[in-house]
Amino acid sequence: MSNNLSDEYIYKQILKSIVEHQLPPGARLPEDKLSEAFGRSRTSIRKVLQRLALERIVTIAPNKGAQVSRPSEQEAKEVLNSRIMLEPLLIPEVLKRWSNTNSKHFRQMVKAEKQAEKEEDQASLIQLTAQFHYELAHFSGNSVMAEFIEQLCYRSSLIIAAFGSRHSVSCDCGDHLVLIELLDKGEVQRAEKWMRDHLTHIKSSLKLTISDDQKINFQQLFSTMD
Ligand SMILES: [Zn+2]
Repeated sequence: MSNNLSDEYIYKQILKSIVEHQLPPGARLPEDKLSEAFGRSRTSIRKVLQRLALERIVTIAPNKGAQVSRPSEQEAKEVLNSRIMLEPLLIPEVLKRWSNTNSKHFRQMVKAEKQAEKEEDQASLIQLTAQFHYELAHFSGNSVMAEFIEQLCYRSSLIIAAFGSRHSVSCDCGDHLVLIELLDKGEVQRAEKWMRDHLTHIKSSLKLTISDDQKINFQQLFSTMD
């Protein structure tokens, strides 16, 4: 492996492995082993782990080091319930600023989601759908609320990766395009209701049982990635 891997690359590879369940909830992330696998210093690895910890994807305990966060059933419910409460509230603000250009931007994002779905790239799909939600929140103009929702979206990605089924990302109530069409038509109430139903559906698709810890060969896991 090259010695010039960027922190961003390492971040993405670890996140991908977590979301794809090669690193399941509770799995330990030893700095020395990751450092060996990526051919980078422990300092670089630590920086990446700290970023993941900030996003609540990874938990760092004083004497135990880093491990993939293991969201509890209760936490999973609370994260989704918070989103169900907050995200519909931002719809009227989003609509005030909505324009053709924005509609095009979000339609482009849906295209990328569909592509990932076609390629059965679950990791990208989880990331892209989360991005759709937090970009929409940022678009409301309330940056405090948007940052909060962004963090809830990261935590949801881990929760969906840990407990989700196929229905957690591509749901039966229609895809994100339906929401864009409602926003295009200026249908505030229907858009709010769509968002509430959509997130409720995601919550109900979660299978709240936890998989067991397993032995992970970091060298093998990351050497096969390009
Ligand atoms: Zn969604």
